[in-house]
Amino acid sequence: MKKSFLPEEYHSSIHHVLISEQEIQAAVRKTGEQISRTYEGKPLLLVSILKGSFVFLADLCRAVRIPCEIGFMGAKSYTGTVSSGKVEITLDLEQDIRAYHVLIVEDIVDTGITLQQVVKMLKERHPLSLRVISLLDKPKRRIVDWHPDQALFSIPDVFVIGYGLDCEEQYRNLPYIAVYEESSEKSALS
Ligand code: 5GP
Repeated sequence: MKKSFLPEEYHSSIHHVLISEQEIQAAVRKTGEQISRTYEGKPLLLVSILKGSFVFLADLCRAVRIPCEIGFMGAKSYTGTVSSGKVEITLDLEQDIRAYHVLIVEDIVDTGITLQQVVKMLKERHPLSLRVISLLDKPKRRIVDWHPDQALFSIPDVFVIGYGLDCEEQYRNLPYIAVYEESSEKSALS
């Protein structure tokens, strides 16, 4: 069941800013330049895994100075069946990726289950090339032998919100990455 929305809890749950708006924007600009150099003259398809990566994709694609196309996919992993690594594709790409160099744009790699499955599935469609870039990486939480080709920031094992990442669909519009803390836990500790 979805939590009721209380403004005071909303603000007190933003524990502290982990990565500032300025740090994110600088890293995104640099990454956009790298992508522009790497894929110059090549058919590039940026694939956003919804919903968490929509903000990162929106900024990153505007930092890319070469022609590119955008695609969207939806993927859901089941935490209750972590060992089985079951991932459901809730929205599939429109493009036939055999004609593209595909760059998957992800918000965060945690256990690695979601991306490992998505990459496996897309490789079977024979793109010209396939790479994964993630805004955040939580290497301590990895339970499968898979890593993104590039991550802009490596973070500790904390639950983060903002810049597209949510908690119960809230906080996606924060311009920074913050550590989330349950208000109830906070008051129990104080
Ligand atoms: P996976 O465990 O398969 O690598 O990651 C699955 C998904 O879990 C991510 O795409 C993201 O939506 C969500 N997730 C993992 N860690 C966090 C986190 O710290 N904050 C938020 N908001 N979502 C997370």
